[in-house]
Amino acid sequence: MPDRPATEATCLRTLQFSESRVHGEAEHALPAHSRRSATAAVSECDSVASSREILEAQAAIESNARAYPRRLPIVIASARGVKVRDVEGREYFDCLAGAGALALGHGHPVVADAIRKALDEEAPLQTLDLPTPLKDRFIRTLFASLPTNWTSDYKIHFCGPSGSDAVEAALKLAKIATGRRGVFAFHGAYHGMTLGSMSVAGDTAPKRALGGFAAEVQFLPFPSEYRCPFGLDGDAGAEMGARFLERLLEDPNSGLLPPAALILEIVQGEGGVNPAPDAWLRRIREITARHGVLLVVDEVQTGLGRTGRLYAFEHSGIEPDILVLSKAIGGGLPLSTILYRRDLDVWGPGAHAGTFRGNQLAFATGAASIDYILSHRLERHVENVGALFQGLMTDIARETECIGDVRGRGLMIGVEICKRHNSAAPLRAEPPSASPEMAKRIQEEGLRRGLIMELGGRNDSVVRFLPPLIVTRGEVEEIAGRFREAVKAAEQAPASQL
Ligand code: PMP
Repeated sequence: MPDRPATEATCLRTLQFSESRVHGEAEHALPAHSRRSATAAVSECDSVASSREILEAQAAIESNARAYPRRLPIVIASARGVKVRDVEGREYFDCLAGAGALALGHGHPVVADAIRKALDEEAPLQTLDLPTPLKDRFIRTLFASLPTNWTSDYKIHFCGPSGSDAVEAALKLAKIATGRRGVFAFHGAYHGMTLGSMSVAGDTAPKRALGGFAAEVQFLPFPSEYRCPFGLDGDAGAEMGARFLERLLEDPNSGLLPPAALILEIVQGEGGVNPAPDAWLRRIREITARHGVLLVVDEVQTGLGRTGRLYAFEHSGIEPDILVLSKAIGGGLPLSTILYRRDLDVWGPGAHAGTFRGNQLAFATGAASIDYILSHRLERHVENVGALFQGLMTDIARETECIGDVRGRGLMIGVEICKRHNSAAPLRAEPPSASPEMAKRIQEEGLRRGLIMELGGRNDSVVRFLPPLIVTRGEVEEIAGRFREAVKAAEQAPASQL
């Protein structure tokens, strides 16, 4: 599929650029069998100035699989706190924050200082899984952020260095430790883009062209108040799902061999910001424990304060057997780990290896960020400011016609965009159908007004907010004001465009 050219819609303001550059894609193509000197390549880059030119250069050279710049066609030149600035000097509120990796926002002094200090002290940049003082400090700081019994009851393994790789490690460990093969996963789940982690993902679109997923994955309905998979009201749908799981495990004729693990997100992120009810989580914990199924909690996105607790499992009081962490724990640099019950530590040396598992700068920035979050009780701030954020979004839902549901926890908020008016009490059993076209339009209108928001959920119809945890009340109000304007502008678009 040819790449989308920069259109009026994607080009946010009239940009100054020369016709020859814009239309001259060949400028970026290398002549066959020749190499330009590095200096020539750099000076060519230096002369490239506008967002549009850089986006076009990217489209010419980078993979068709690139994703974010298609919907967020901006070129970020600098960033500070909750804001980023593009090469033309336009400012945006960053409600994506590196897909939740930038808990302290951009350029936080404790993160910058940690990097400087590590370099000044001549720390090695990466050391495989050899111990170092920076790694030792990171481990101690991370355990300090977890419930106190974890230091004695759990062990840690470093993965390398994506969330997906940590999910792979968790699934391997569960299989090795139980001697079982199967895995339970949920509709709407997202656990990464490797073949193993995609095996337990709900979204079928990226799976279609592939094969070779892990066998023996059984998908289960994830509770949703707004779109209950059983068409039930309130907690009844969640309870129905739990009972179904219980029956699957108890019934000798269910056709299912006892599985190694059940993997879930406490708040599904990419799946459209779906929070799991606490009571349901407690039921799942009890059922899995009773049947020797290891509970793998994927907190790659929710971990470290995002939901208003340091860890999202703490809302319900459950404890996972295996916890998957990445994103925020690296303070913005790549780092991923699993933590698991000590008695599960039966895998052999090298059972989950990898080169980049010893990123010392990430240990430094990760420890500094965790320290800051702990000492400032940032999760409490997230709870307060998140409640304000959700309240403002609910107000906007009342004033406008296309918002079907507002949901989330802490600073992980989703606004589901629907086809028809739904300002009255939501129709649980039969909610209006989602409107991906309107969601896309709102995202574009938001970007025009200096808001970076991502879409997720079924058919990308949920506008997602994942701002840095340091966002202030004033900034939240400003973000909500711009969002209100964006929704109103999108609603005024001619129907043919939606
Ligand atoms: N699990 C969850 C819950 C995630 O949100 C993500 C990333 N969005 C991943 C796993 C995969 O992490 P990564 O992109 O670093 O591989």
